[in-house]
Order: sequence, then C-alpha cells, then structure tokens
Amino acid sequence: KLFNEVQELKGNIRVYCRVRPFLPGQDGKSTAVDYIGENGEILISNPSKQGKDGYRMFKFNKVFSTHVSQAEVFSDIQPLIRSVLDGFNVCIFAYGQTGSGKTYTMSGPGTSKEDWGVNYRALNDLFDISLKRRNTFSYEVEVQMVEIYNEQVRDLLSNDIAQKRLGIWSTSQPNGLVVPDASLVPVKSTSDVLDLMEIGQANRAVGSTALNERSSRSHSILTVHVRGLDLKNGSTSRGCLHLIDLAGSERVERSEATGDRLKEAQHINKSLSALGDVIFALAQKNAHVPYRNSKLTQVLQSSLGGQAKTLMFVQINPDVESCSETISTLKFAERVS
Ligand code: ADP
Ligand code: MG
Repeated sequence: KLFNEVQELKGNIRVYCRVRPFLPGQDGKSTAVDYIGENGEILISNPSKQGKDGYRMFKFNKVFSTHVSQAEVFSDIQPLIRSVLDGFNVCIFAYGQTGSGKTYTMSGPGTSKEDWGVNYRALNDLFDISLKRRNTFSYEVEVQMVEIYNEQVRDLLSNDIAQKRLGIWSTSQPNGLVVPDASLVPVKSTSDVLDLMEIGQANRAVGSTALNERSSRSHSILTVHVRGLDLKNGSTSRGCLHLIDLAGSERVERSEATGDRLKEAQHINKSLSALGDVIFALAQKNAHVPYRNSKLTQVLQSSLGGQAKTLMFVQINPDVESCSETISTLKFAERVS
C-alpha cells in the first residue's frame, strides 16, 4: 500500500542502491563509501580530488549497506513482486560495473536457500501464494529466459542457442508475448525453476573465453508470466515479471578495446543509454518515450511505463580504486530516479 503511494509520485520508478562488501582476501582495501544515511543518502569520497570536490552525495529510495542479507533485500521488494499476481507488469534491473554484485542480487552466489537471490525467492513466493489462494484463484506460471548480446536476442532455454536469433513483436499480441519464439516453459515448483536456471546458465556460458566472460557482456532477462483465474467470478488477469541482470556498465576506453571487444562495448553502451533514456523519459512523464533505440527497451516496452512498475538495483563495488566508475554508475541512477 505504502509502496503504491510512493510510486504514484515517482512515476512507478524506484531506485535502490546496494553496496557489496569487500571479499575475502580484500582486507586492507579502503572504501569509497564514506557515509550511508537512513533515508537513502550515500556519500562517495574520491581521494584523488582535494577538499569539497573529493565528495559526492547521492540520494535514492533506499541504500542497502554491505551487511544486508538476501532475505532482507527480498522482503523489501516482496509487495512489488506479488503485484504480478494482480496483473501488474514489473521490471527489476541490476545495474553496475562487472564485479559489483548484480548476479549476487538477482540470482545469488549459490543455490542453497540462504544464497538465493531475487529470482528464486520471487518464484518461490509466487508458488507459496498461489498454494495459499488455491481455493479462490488458480494461477499458471511460465518462464522465458533470453539474453541480449550484441543487439541480438537469444533463447537461453533452447538447445540450439547458437543459431536461434529471435524476433521481437509489437506489444499488443493477444498472448502477451513480446518474444514469442523463445521457449516458454511452465513451472510448478521452485525445483523446476532451479533446473531451468541451470540450463539457462549453461547456455549463457557458450562462447565465453577466460578473458572475455560472456555473462558480463550480455543482458540476461528472466521473464515470469503469470495468468490468474478468479474461481468465484471467472475473471482473468495476466501479469509479467522481468528480472534483468544487465551487462557490466564499465566504460571501456576506445584505445583499450579493439575488434570484437570494441563492438561489444559499443552495443552495451548503446543499450544501457537507451534504457537510461527510456526510464528518464518515463520519470519526467514525457510524451515521447524512445523505446525503439535498443533491443533491450523493445523487449521490455510493454513492461516499462503505463501501469507497470520498475525497480532498479544500482550495485556498488566499495573499493576506492573503483570510485570514478562508482560515481558514474550513481550518476546514471540519479538521472532515472
Ligand atoms: P557482477 O554480476 O556485477 O559482475 P557478482 O554478483 O558476480 O558481480 O559479484 C562479484 C563478487 O562479489 C562475487 O564473488 C559475489 O559473490 C560477491 N558479492 C557480491 N555482492 C555481495 C554481497 N552483498 N555480499 C557478499 N558477497 C557479494
Ligand atoms: Mg554477473
């Protein structure tokens, strides 16, 4: 309820910052995160600049500090996820440089229950609720999993991932599918989901080399389609939850990148700015929203804007050596919040 009220004011967009802790073996590193306030403030210090210029304050809907658990993060977004059962479309993004914790937040560092990120917890919760409501509602849950790499959409749940490039349809398909040729798999339990994720992860790794980890260079989108039937009056609803682990947002110096790497970097850059432009236009309530500028925003078009709800996790690596990257990440987030 409260969430909805806040959302009305904010054009249905909210931004959460999450700071990852230093990892084992990183003791002794100094942090760029100087202060985290109770109301979503975060102060970043940049020791390479003197005096006042060495500090930059940002404010978001919330900041999760290093010790906040996966369960705590999830409980905060649970109402948002449950709104999918009432027919809302929801997009949850993780944005940040490679190594900042995007995959940790969205999927988790492992498959034990405590480790679970947003995706397993979300599906688990949806199954729980549908069980509880089974005398009054019947829900069907289906998932799709695609990645966008170099502006091509690929099915992560198909066997012939190498060949399959998928088309994006206009938003008004009767079945609500925007990528209709991507495998659509019914799921009934969290263990079904765990199995599927494994397939998706394996497919995502195709083509990766040690130097160029594919998963940092592509966006992965897990889409959960929920169809509800009210057993009392026969009315139906359709909601859709997109969980998006974005490609690493780090800027690549032109001089450092050549060939394939440069091409990848340009595609990532283009799609992340297109995403920023779309969310910015929505937050400003602009009449024109530039969805057409990237595959990412085309795939998500029907779930960005209108009644749909958007949450962005902005992930921060606390290391002072990353501080200029961190500041540019936070500037991106500040613009869309
Ligand atoms: P990204 O997907 O942005 O490249 P990862 O999610 O892979 O980053 O995180 C990088 C490393 O940091 C991983 O070893 C991950 O387990 C760890 N990590 C990230 N966030 C946290 C956190 N909140 N608590 C503990 N470890 C974390
Ligand atoms: Mg990752």
